[in-house]
Amino acid sequence: MGKTIIEVKELHKKYGDFEAVKGISFSVQEGEIFGLLGPNGAGKSTTLEIMETLRAKTSGDVFVDGWNLDTSPNDIKKIIGVQLQTSGYYPSLNLTELIVLFAGLYDEEVDPLVLLDSVNLRDKAKAKYKELSGGQKQRFSIATTLINRPRIIFLDEPTTGLDPQARRNLWDLIREIRAKGTTVIITTHYMDEAEVLCDRVAIIDSGKIIAINTPDKLIDELVESGFEKRKEVKQANLEDVFIHLTGKALRDD
Ligand code: ADP
Ligand code: MG
Repeated sequence: MGKTIIEVKELHKKYGDFEAVKGISFSVQEGEIFGLLGPNGAGKSTTLEIMETLRAKTSGDVFVDGWNLDTSPNDIKKIIGVQLQTSGYYPSLNLTELIVLFAGLYDEEVDPLVLLDSVNLRDKAKAKYKELSGGQKQRFSIATTLINRPRIIFLDEPTTGLDPQARRNLWDLIREIRAKGTTVIITTHYMDEAEVLCDRVAIIDSGKIIAINTPDKLIDELVESGFEKRKEVKQANLEDVFIHLTGKALRDD
């Protein structure tokens, strides 16, 4: 794995008296899919938005590709891809027009059809955002993160609310993006997703990182500590049954 592309040191975030992030430190290597895992309210989005320059921190240091968040936020903005708020998806514009609009904001030249192709939405080029299925909406949202050809993209719970087929389809897309050299920081509270998708994960609970490692090593450590699953481990789970019966093909295209 390559060099360190993100470094977070002793990050704190207070909302009034409430401390949502309590001094977390971690680093992300270039080309990784790095997962921030945790229950609702753990501080995942807060941490992500601070790294994205969208939210002010209370204290601590953040470096993105060597740029200090305090002194060089604009340099950071140029090399990261951020999911835009859906409120920016003007209802009267179709997907092509939205991409042209966003590309203009980033001052980038982008071929909308090539970009839509990369997220499997070329045939929806003339559709409006509200006409898309849940999976298609997420794929479009990911396309918008790629407009400025970023080195790092941040995805906040991209698969929440999707059906199993759409979820797998999105995992494939995220792997493709990484295969092109882009570092991916993703939040999720689905552990199966983190296990198959992430190279390394940080588990956050109540604003603190309580574990950080590869999914494999975390599982091995737990097993070595004497942990045993109460239930007999079967060779498949209900989701396997569901996918086996209904197929992997996407339904929403
Ligand atoms: P997660 O993304 O892990 O669900 P968040 O980062 O959204 O967690 O929130 C962490 C905690 O901070 C939660 O308790 C949440 O209620 C609180 N919080 C988030 N944003 C704000 C805000 N703007 N003002 C006050 N409290 C907030
Ligand atoms: Mg969140």
